[in-house]
Amino acid sequence: MTIIDGKQVAADMRAELKLKISELKDKGKSVPGLVAILVGEDPASKVYVGMKEKACIEVGLYSKLDRLSAETTEAELLQLIEQYNNDEKIHGILVQLPLPKHINEDAIIEAISPSKDVDGFHPINVGKMVIGKDTLLPCTPHGVVELLKRYNIETKGKHVVVVGRSNIVGKPVANMLLQKKAGANAVVTIVHSAAEDLTTITKQADILIAAIGVPEFIKSDMVKDGVVIIDVGVNRVEDSSKKSGYKLVGDVDFANVSEKSSYITPVPGGVGPMTIAMLLQNTYSAYLKLK
Ligand code: NAP
Repeated sequence: MTIIDGKQVAADMRAELKLKISELKDKGKSVPGLVAILVGEDPASKVYVGMKEKACIEVGLYSKLDRLSAETTEAELLQLIEQYNNDEKIHGILVQLPLPKHINEDAIIEAISPSKDVDGFHPINVGKMVIGKDTLLPCTPHGVVELLKRYNIETKGKHVVVVGRSNIVGKPVANMLLQKKAGANAVVTIVHSAAEDLTTITKQADILIAAIGVPEFIKSDMVKDGVVIIDVGVNRVEDSSKKSGYKLVGDVDFANVSEKSSYITPVPGGVGPMTIAMLLQNTYSAYLKLK
């Protein structure tokens, strides 16, 4: 059994990008720029945006962070996005979700220029992803595909079962792996909470992708021997032995499922670190296309 080291893959990707950016600098060219917009005081969002900024600085991207008050109006946010849509130093615009209730998230996502939509959430980019066109792909599911690629895990003709159908993980990862191209070309099944007999389906998986949000939901009797497990879940569970009072676990019962699997991602240190790596990668791709 091989543990898929997402932390290492993400570090490799950052190092590769750092090199490309230093080459741009050596040639006297401008560098890719990313702006993150944070509205309000959500603690998890603050941590996440801080991690993104740190990663941008590490690889040498131009990075900007706009912290706006929770009282910011939708009109003010739309105006700011328009400003960045027209800013030549900015190639990626990220609006940290969730937004305060009085702001319509769909309107905000649709206001971001699709060419700068480094989260890959704009309906134009989602549509292009579905029909297999080259576009900016959402970071977490793209990170899953990248992990499979970097570990040379064959997907062609394999049965991938995705548990979860969210717009940010389940649906996009299923779509990406369905495409008739290298690193994909899988036979994909998506299951969700309305499935009548989930286990019959998950047991057929050559590759099982869990994006459920329920701690250790996937048990060893739900998978077959030799399965590849990609655990997207990040769940806080109480743990009095930790200083923080909690620990992070995935959607898969790692201790038992790992005994049956050929490859498995841990939580933390599996899919999680890939999200920011793919965001940086998207900013670089957006820069190359906009130049
Ligand atoms: P979500 O929007 O809550 O979607 C969860 C999906 O799981 C839904 O489709 C739901 O089915 C399905 N589900 C829930 N309970 C189920 C059950 N008992 N049986 C079968 N299916 C069930 O969650 P998400 O945003 O996709 O996130 C999923 C997990 O990934 C979370 O733990 C989240 O924290 C994590 N995540 C990690 C990253 C990262 O590492 N960077 C990024 C995003 C998300 P229905 O549609 O029928 O309700």
